[in-house]
Amino acid sequence: MTALAGILAARIAAQGPISLADYMADCLLHPLHGYYTTREPFGAGGDFTTAPEISQMFGEMLGLCLAQAWADQGRPDLFVLAEIGPGRGTLMADILRTIRAAPGMREAARPVLVEASPALRARQAETLAGQGACWRDTIAGLPDGPLFLVANEFFDALPIRQFRRVEGGWSEVQVGLAEGRLAPGLGPVTDYPALSGRLADTRPGDVIECCPAAPAIATEIAHRVAAFGGAAVIVDYGGWHSLGDTLQAVRAHASADPFADPGTADLTAHVDFEVLANAFRAAGAGVTAMVPQGVFLERLGITARAQALARGLSGAALDAHVAAHRRLTHPDEMGNLFKVIACHPPACPPPPGFAPLSCPRA
Ligand code: SAH
Repeated sequence: MTALAGILAARIAAQGPISLADYMADCLLHPLHGYYTTREPFGAGGDFTTAPEISQMFGEMLGLCLAQAWADQGRPDLFVLAEIGPGRGTLMADILRTIRAAPGMREAARPVLVEASPALRARQAETLAGQGACWRDTIAGLPDGPLFLVANEFFDALPIRQFRRVEGGWSEVQVGLAEGRLAPGLGPVTDYPALSGRLADTRPGDVIECCPAAPAIATEIAHRVAAFGGAAVIVDYGGWHSLGDTLQAVRAHASADPFADPGTADLTAHVDFEVLANAFRAAGAGVTAMVPQGVFLERLGITARAQALARGLSGAALDAHVAAHRRLTHPDEMGNLFKVIACHPPACPPPPGFAPLSCPRA
């Protein structure tokens, strides 16, 4: 049993089962034993690989997208360039390099990283040495001013609650003890008024998920973008309108039991982009349609960029480059599973790569 499993088992024995969200929060960010607090999980030797770690082209396309949005908004001469959940700092490094192509933009950018894990902050500081970056604990701590923001695989790492529809209401998935081991179970049947809107599209037995932290974070981002200018580009895996159990644990590039050895595997859930879109709109920002990652990257010109980079490569390096392009864009790989959405000031057009969200409250 891991140290964290012992701590959680003792808490549950004393106080009763805990929500899935409380369980996830400790698994990911427990100050001593959390997954992100104790390790650097990315890459071939880690547990999973993310788009910026696959190829520099991912950050280059996001950098181009922000550069055009910055130019379209009159090139503000001081702005916050923020990333939430920056991992190893690779994406921010690629964006900072790319925006040098827009005269004056790098000088105007103040890079700010929102990161909860001290271990990953240290890693980001190495990657971004000499770039003038600073760190914040939460999005609320960002300095005021035009905000150009990216988040890749951040929202999927936020704790979720799960509810199973049953006769007479909803039963929340909880983590309790079965024969001394952590195990999921169902809490008492309750009529959660906040879930009444989901009675129309669910049937008894269905599971729905909600991410309590996501709307507040999306609202804070959109308030700033609407008030000060800028744009926020959110990339994650998920879809429109959540339905079903999407909790997954990944260790060493393979799926694992989310309730075994807590703190040693990444835990994620699909992101509900409808929730982000509604929060953006309610905060007064313009909202784009959700677009598959592959389509978004193609619209921004990733294939032309891939061809240009390929000209300097041969042999195994060329093969790896071609595979990386395919992995980021192909519908059978990350191209369709991952989605992208943005918010922007209401008077401005959507950033390049996006179309406006045409159907209000789809
Ligand atoms: N964007 C990176 C890493 C994704 S992993 C990439 O694409 O490679 C998720 C990141 O979010 C990690 O850096 C993790 O420490 C951070 N994170 C998770 N929960 C957070 C929270 N509540 N606040 C701030 N950062 C968080």
